[in-house]
Amino acid sequence: MKFVYDFSEGNKDLKDLLGGKGANLAEMTNLGLPVPPGFTITTEACRAYLRDGDHVDGLAAEIDEHLAALERQMGRRLGDADDPLLVSVRSGAKFSMPGMMETVLNVGLTDASVAGLSRQAGGNDRFAWDSYRRLIQMFGKTVCDVPGHEFEDALHEAKTAKGVTDDVQLDAADLRELVAAYKKVFAEHTGHEFPQDPRDQMDQAVAAVFRSWNADRAVLYRRQERIPTDLGTAVNVVAMVFGNLGADSGTGVAFTRDPASGEQGVYGDYLANAQGEDVVAGIRNTLALAELEKLDKRSYDELMRIMATLEGHYRDLCDIEFTIERGKLWMLQTRVGKRTAAAAFTIAAQLVDEGVIDLDEALTRVTGAQLGQLMFPRFDLAGDPSALTRGVGASPGAAYGEVVFTSERAVEVAAGGKPVILVRRETNPDDLPGMIAANGILTSRGGKTSHAAVVARGMGKTCVCGADQVAVSGTTFTVGETVVEEGDVISIDGTTGRVYLGEVPVRPSEVVQYFEGDLDPARANDPLVAAVHRILTHADSRRALRVRTNADTGTDAARARRFGAQGIGLCRTEHMFLGDRRELVERLILARTDTDRDAALAALQPLQRADFLEIFREMNGLPVTIRLIDPPLHEFLPSLEELAVRVAVQHEHGRRDEHDERLLAAVRRMHEQNPMLGLRGVRLGLVIPGLFAMQVRAIAEAAVALAAEGGAPRPEIMVPLVGAVQELETVRAEAERIIAEVIGDSPVEILIGTMIEVPRAALTAGQIAEAAEFFSFGTNDLTQMAWGFSRDDVEGAFFWRYLELGIFGISPFESIDADGVGRLVRIATEEGRAARPGLKLGVCGEHGGDPDSVRFFHEVGLDYVSCSPFRVPIARLEAGRAAVDTDGSDHR
Ligand code: ADP
Ligand code: MG
Ligand code: MG
Repeated sequence: MKFVYDFSEGNKDLKDLLGGKGANLAEMTNLGLPVPPGFTITTEACRAYLRDGDHVDGLAAEIDEHLAALERQMGRRLGDADDPLLVSVRSGAKFSMPGMMETVLNVGLTDASVAGLSRQAGGNDRFAWDSYRRLIQMFGKTVCDVPGHEFEDALHEAKTAKGVTDDVQLDAADLRELVAAYKKVFAEHTGHEFPQDPRDQMDQAVAAVFRSWNADRAVLYRRQERIPTDLGTAVNVVAMVFGNLGADSGTGVAFTRDPASGEQGVYGDYLANAQGEDVVAGIRNTLALAELEKLDKRSYDELMRIMATLEGHYRDLCDIEFTIERGKLWMLQTRVGKRTAAAAFTIAAQLVDEGVIDLDEALTRVTGAQLGQLMFPRFDLAGDPSALTRGVGASPGAAYGEVVFTSERAVEVAAGGKPVILVRRETNPDDLPGMIAANGILTSRGGKTSHAAVVARGMGKTCVCGADQVAVSGTTFTVGETVVEEGDVISIDGTTGRVYLGEVPVRPSEVVQYFEGDLDPARANDPLVAAVHRILTHADSRRALRVRTNADTGTDAARARRFGAQGIGLCRTEHMFLGDRRELVERLILARTDTDRDAALAALQPLQRADFLEIFREMNGLPVTIRLIDPPLHEFLPSLEELAVRVAVQHEHGRRDEHDERLLAAVRRMHEQNPMLGLRGVRLGLVIPGLFAMQVRAIAEAAVALAAEGGAPRPEIMVPLVGAVQELETVRAEAERIIAEVIGDSPVEILIGTMIEVPRAALTAGQIAEAAEFFSFGTNDLTQMAWGFSRDDVEGAFFWRYLELGIFGISPFESIDADGVGRLVRIATEEGRAARPGLKLGVCGEHGGDPDSVRFFHEVGLDYVSCSPFRVPIARLEAGRAAVDTDGSDHR
């Protein structure tokens, strides 16, 4: 097995083996771009190390060989006292994990080689000592777990002692003293001196990068992003180039387009006389990249050329890290860059216009989750709230909540159910739990490329960063005269970067307004709306799945139709038994004779007919699946407690109310230990004579009425909770009789089918299909019954623990459990179709609007998914993506 690859041996498609950073460093090297030489130790080596410990057979020898080659190429030996080669040791996994893994710069510097480094730099002592103190700091933190603040405190002291505020104001002598202080910190915490053997430094750093794969925060990030835990990280060893050699040197980050809006232009930050992370750590204020043109036009022009080359090569937005060493530009990293949801759509459409990609590929570059984000409401600024301050809009959305200042506090307050805004000077990987818990993140330092910004964008969380007027101290922050305490409410706008005191009301997004057909004309040419329109239209032309909606009212049906629904996949009838109709339901339940019961049903029937007519009208020409009454009937009666108290009070006052007493008796009689598994669904229809018949008659009459007006109703009657074909046959026989009677010679056609939501139904689907013209998978109940837990009872009780233990990657109610519940869906699909070739198959659980589940249903070959109106566009997009892209795994 080959464990080490020179940059010239790899390429961008080897991310599994070389990690993203290593693969792209190789790609840039092969493109002839100025990349410092180096090599990559593979993820396989990492996995072997994590499995076998320190002694991975053959690894040390391969590293020797590649290091020797690097030394020959550079004409310097690692850590040589007179003329040292220094390297960086950099982590890089397959998926970018911002700030998760660690990097050590300046490896090879020792007490002996620091003077050699100074000579190399033309006698620049300050630079040499600055590099050395950085090494001790990074090495101490990353490799030996020395608490980072110890070093920061020592640096702070050095600055205070000298009366300066900026690191660059420390001179060589100060830095030399700082090195001594750092070494003391190091020795105190580790019990040994800072290692003086360059190769030993390198080996220790490599091992630490391997181990960091299993650091707590890396594990947490992977869980959050659903990245597999067994990939391991690669390690890149790269010859150092120096941005801290003086004013003609510096380091920066850049994007080929704006990662927030997608606009073309020059985006990035640059910091002169700085190294590595300085630019993203918000230590000093960075310059906008455009300023570099004035400082160093040659490097700037070259950078622009390289950025164009990279975009052309990767055919997508790239982000870049670079360093300028005395006027010479070096590329240190690139990758296809993360971006906001809006930028994803805008850039995909731009690239189509530029002829770089076609619409199919554009479709694979956006996700349903991103479209979902664009449908979030925005702040309504009609009340003209005055902004408290402004930062950089780093991740869009509108969020408000109580101010908290620590990750721990964010988790606590959010656990109490309250929205939270996490306010920090800057964030670091230790803040991750708080960032996950918070509704929004506000930082006072750092730009669009800071840790807070990158991580928040990845999570789709609202973030404003670099609000530099915000002065955080303890449990308050101030902006000028205004003091904001922990617990006060603020609102932050991740698009504009504005921060408001109090809770600002929100309004719908323009994408939703576009779907609704009431987009403000001023926004008609909005590039984002145009991009969404174009890509979604293309998805519609490609998808095999139809998209219906779950809607119980005419209003919902009409909205869903505007959002592109192609019918109703689930119309629940239970709400039609609520409100002022409760009384009729009570009469039905309390009926002592057939006559009483028939009278109650007869009174309900015209009301139901009117409900159905309204829905058929809104969905004229499209199928409407109506589920016969499903919940246990006692849900329509007052609760046992309420009735018991009411009757007891009456007795105390010497009164008796016969109606209430009968109700109480009925509720007692109907009480169930496990209502979810009790008298509901088809069982109700078989036990209460006339109930389903009334509903079927109302449906048929409504359809005939619409047809008589010239409409084209397409009702589908769905029987819930069927587990055996005999149940369905019994209901079907009666329904067919009634339908025949009602429709006479009207052209109306009514299908009869069933939900598949009891595992037994899935397992006997071949039999059930004999009596069903369609199946609709009720994946909520199917999930509950397949796992044997009730969503309402258990989700809060133990799901967190299951997620923590990795038993679930995600709640099975959110995204379909493909292996278990999904297998039931597959079985029923195959056996149902085998028994009845024309069988229509759909899904009407919440999963119908979940991106990953939609992909699964496409693969299984269902005819349609059905979801809530707001999810219809998301399902349309995902169904299109599933159709053009059979392997979506890289487009996370
Ligand atoms: P991350 O994955 O956190 O971005 P990197 O490995 O990219 O970590 O490195 C951290 C910082 O150090 C980046 O700013 C990078 O550009 C810089 N850096 C890494 N290697 C070198 C090198 N050989 N010379 C100069 N700077 C480097
Ligand atoms: Mg980097
Ligand atoms: Mg159900």
